[in-house]
Amino acid sequence: MCTRDNYCRRCRRELHDATSRTRGMGPECDPLTRVQHHPTTDVVQDPIPGL
Ligand SMILES: [Zn+2]
Repeated sequence: MCTRDNYCRRCRRELHDATSRTRGMGPECDPLTRVQHHPTTDVVQDPIPGL
């Protein structure tokens, strides 16, 4: 069992679940688990109510 790679290969974030550790990628970086997860909405363009 390889437990040294507890960080995402892509973004170097710490992985907290066994699946991500096995893949070496977090769910937000792994295209396979990404669909089952919440889509990253950081680039969402919210309409500004004031304008
Ligand atoms: Zn990542």
